[in-house]
Order: sequence, then C-alpha cells, then structure tokens
Amino acid sequence: MDKVEFSQLANIGVQSLSPYQPGKPIDELAREFNLNPADIIKLASNENPLGPSSKAIAAITAELANLTRYPDGNGFELKTALSRKLRVKSSQITLGNGSSDILEFIVKCFVSGGDEVLVSQHAFAIYGLVTQMAGGRCVQIPAKNWGHDLEAMARAVTPSTKIIFVTNPNNPTGTWNTKVQLKSFLKKVPSNVIVLLDEAYFEYVDKADYPSGIDYLEQYTNLVVTRTFSKAYGLASLRVGYGVCSEQLADLMNRVRPPFNVDSLALAAAVACLNDDSYVRQSKELNDQGLNQLQSGFDQLNLSWIPSVGNFICFAIPGRALEVFQGLLAKGVIIRPVANYEMPDHLRVSIGTQVENEKFLLALKSLLEA
Ligand SMILES: *Cc1c(COP(=O)(O)O)cnc(C)c1O
Repeated sequence: MDKVEFSQLANIGVQSLSPYQPGKPIDELAREFNLNPADIIKLASNENPLGPSSKAIAAITAELANLTRYPDGNGFELKTALSRKLRVKSSQITLGNGSSDILEFIVKCFVSGGDEVLVSQHAFAIYGLVTQMAGGRCVQIPAKNWGHDLEAMARAVTPSTKIIFVTNPNNPTGTWNTKVQLKSFLKKVPSNVIVLLDEAYFEYVDKADYPSGIDYLEQYTNLVVTRTFSKAYGLASLRVGYGVCSEQLADLMNRVRPPFNVDSLALAAAVACLNDDSYVRQSKELNDQGLNQLQSGFDQLNLSWIPSVGNFICFAIPGRALEVFQGLLAKGVIIRPVANYEMPDHLRVSIGTQVENEKFLLALKSLLEA
C-alpha cells in the first residue's frame, strides 16, 4: 500500500496545531524521577488544594447506582439551580464539559476560514487553539502591564473580527480589569462582534471595582460569560462549567454541543456544590493566606512577582526560569513554565496549602542559593 501523509490531508488549522500543554501529572513525574508520588507536590494547574467538598462526594456516591443511564442531556437541575443563583433564565445557560467546552462552541458557531479572533498577549492558550482548529486567525493585542489593554482591543476590531476573548482575571498573569474598563470596552465593541468574557477565577476576586459579567448580559446580547466548577468549586477532574448569554446565542451553542457532554456525576456534584458557600469561602480564605505567604516568600528571595487576584501567581527569575523549573521537578515540586505565553523569564505557581507553599519556597530557596 502507498504511504499516505495524513497530516497533509488534515484540515489546514490542524496541520500546524500543537496540542495544549497541561501541567505535569504527579504520577508521570514519579515515574521519571523515581520519586514517591506521596512526596510530590503539584502546584501547576490552578487546582483547589482543599480536596472536593463533602457535599460533592456525597452527591456523587448517591448517583453511582444510576451509571447505566445516560445523563440528563439538558442538565435541567443544574441549569435551574444556576438560573436561581445568577438571576438569569435557564434558556440563557449552556453547560460544558469544563468551561473550555463553551469556548469551543462559540468558536464553532462563528469562526471559519479567514475569520479573525482577538486575544490579549499572555492570555489563556486555549483561545488560540480552538480558533486555529476552526480555521480562524488569532490576532494578539499587546498587553499593558501584563494585563488586557481593553481600549486597544476595542480599537483592533476589523470587519473580519468575529469574537474577542477577554479573561478576567487572566491566567497566567493574574491581572484583572475594572468595572469602568469593562463597561467602556463593551460600549465600544460593535454589537455584531461576540465578546467572550472568561471568568474562571471569578469566585476568588473580592475587589470592589471588579465586575461580574452577568450584570451586563441584559444590555449586551453579544456577551457570553463563562465560569467553571474546576477552580474554587474544586471539581477539575469532573469537567463541568457553563456559559451564560442571550437566549439567541445559547440556542446557537446548543446546536453544536455534543449530546450528553456533561456526565451525571458531574451534574450531581455541581448541583450539590453550587450553594456550598462555606466550601467556597474556605477555598478563598486559604487562597488569600497562600497568596500572602508566597508574596512575602518571593520578597525575601528578592524575586519580583506580578500582583494576582487568582489562585496562582507569576514570579520572575530572569535568565534562569527554565533551569529553576527543572530543578524544582527534580525535588518533586511541579509548577508551570510560561515561556509559551511570551513570558520566558517567569514561572507560574498555583496557590497550595500552607505546607505545600512552604515546601515550594524552601525548594526554590535552595535552588537559588546553589
Ligand atoms: C482553568 C481555566 C478555565 C477552566 O477550564 P475548565 O475547562 O472549566 O476546567 C477556563 N479559562 C481559564 C482562563 C482557565 O485558567
């Protein structure tokens, strides 16, 4: 048989696509360095260090007996609970296999060959990947002090622009935009351009002038707000998130959504967690303490850091970031290099428990002194 080069037959966007690089799993590092998995700490994927809420575990346990059935493809219960909490109609909500699913749906609905999508420099990598997959072109707008320059992003809209991705706060930089900035941005964006406002870390932010995107949905039918159960709700492995938008856009996204994209364990756990305010409060308190702990740790080591309102923080080690990342791996500490975000001198660390943060800082100190 002739040898076929399938890569040349694949869709153009797929031919030059490189897969998303996730944080290194604990078991993989254990195999590579012959370490005991129990001794490894992973602060690489902005996961919640508390462990899942007991309410989530109870709901999953109760749901196990029903695993032979397909899940509720419309997610009635979760959408009803979300609609009460957020004061929107159920018909404005789209459930996703993680909120990343929603990002992909919106791109699938609107982007094809030659269309433009605007993103900020240093923004979450998934936007570029899903755009490229759809054959679209990602246009990157230079960041301002590591954060989104919303004025410049609004100015960059062209007749080919279909979607603008805004991450608030942004991952990996932890930077955020204020109510005033977001309002004036939404006013400037033409109403036929979709604004996807990614609020994956919403629950961690308590700044008085931090906007909730939900407040602007009534005024802007081109706005999609995404949130997730993966971070402050502690359910990253279950893959459940959601988008809230006008009924028109939700109806379109529902057409490209695969049937049963959220499984029954995820649905049950999300319903159980959604109003578990004490778990979310505890997650936030632990995060606030951890952020302080890491900031003073960096100060003591004379390392500069980017102020963050997320559950992660970037710090700089000019010229030595990759070497330090690898040195930490050898000591059983997994964090995240961000060279692929045009930040070659920085590393990103997720906020862990007090003990994990301490171990990380000690390992970092010993590498810097070596
Ligand atoms: C973690 C994260 C998400 C959420 O991903 P899920 O698919 O919901 O797990 C979305 N956007 C950003 C910027 C993130 O960092």
